Amino acid sequence: MQSKDLERRRGGEMKHRAMGCFLIGVTGPGFSTHGDALIGSVSDDPYDVRTFLRAVKPAGSQGHIGTELVSTTEHTLVERGYFVDPGETTRGLNESGLAFTCAMIFEKETAERTLDAPSFSDLSRKMMTNCKTVVDAIDLFRSAGACTPPFSVLLADARGDLAHLEAGTFGMNVNHHYSQQNPGMVYAVNCYLSQKLVNYNAANAVIQNTQNNNLARRQRGEQLAQGLRGKLDVASLGRILSDHANRERDPMDNPLLEAWGYSICNHGTRRQETYPHENLPWGTVSAEIMQPSEKLFWYAYGWACGQPPEYGDQIYQEKSWGKFVPFGFRASDSGNEEITVLATAGGEITPAGLRSQADRKRATRVG
Ligand SMILES: [Zn+2]
Repeated sequence: MQSKDLERRRGGEMKHRAMGCFLIGVTGPGFSTHGDALIGSVSDDPYDVRTFLRAVKPAGSQGHIGTELVSTTEHTLVERGYFVDPGETTRGLNESGLAFTCAMIFEKETAERTLDAPSFSDLSRKMMTNCKTVVDAIDLFRSAGACTPPFSVLLADARGDLAHLEAGTFGMNVNHHYSQQNPGMVYAVNCYLSQKLVNYNAANAVIQNTQNNNLARRQRGEQLAQGLRGKLDVASLGRILSDHANRERDPMDNPLLEAWGYSICNHGTRRQETYPHENLPWGTVSAEIMQPSEKLFWYAYGWACGQPPEYGDQIYQEKSWGKFVPFGFRASDSGNEEITVLATAGGEITPAGLRSQADRKRATRVG
């Protein structure tokens, strides 16, 4: 990439390029099938930016299973204007059963921001390493007060707590905190929703702007989840994350990112066979469901629906699994830091990944 181009991306609308998403969470009797907390998400990126799944075991502290983003071109994510740290976990579940997933916020640029806010990458690493519960994680974000880049975050834990918080350069807010005694559902897309932070959204990202995909995805997710209330489990969440309502809308109309679609399972395309280098359309490169009660990370490479690509600009998507595969923890026998790849950026499950599957027969097909 030309350096001028890079500067434009860093300084302009691409400043907080990280990951587009739809997130959903549920907990409690009458809401989830078994009353436990579950969170799920789709990870949307240009099709040449992929997620892979790995287990991270820091020396002397608890490990976690999570996804990491990687550029498949000759340029790194940082060179391409991404605000992620090498090794950053983008969705994670730790050995205590604390899980998180997150959606980037398109935040407005003003002078009032807290420029020295801690990085989200540092906070999420501390969360996975040190925290055991949703309450611990909320305390961590509260004591940070702000973070950069901004994210909408869902949290869940093994005792059934579920929370939705927003954290960015203008502060943080806990939108909802549910539990076994106070059941509920949460949803997040790529904008602030809390009264405290809603005015800090970029104008084209606000939920009321029907040109972007935030309202379409959030409303559809809520409609599906309300219809499945009391029957929400890994399989039914997988069906929500495979939904195609609004897929017929033209991805070229989306003002947030060019050629990013409107359905939850996102099939963004310019409807062309060729594409500009490092400017591919955005779509779902993986989907994840975290089940803290079982300490399982369910991962689906590519589109969770498993359908084949329609156009040549939807690269790698022909490898989509079309099912969620459960990955669990295994005892580590070394005192050193270990990072073990479980599923690669090309969609291959490694031998370590096969060993970490709690029960391979339980893979949940949703397509
Ligand atoms: Zn799909």
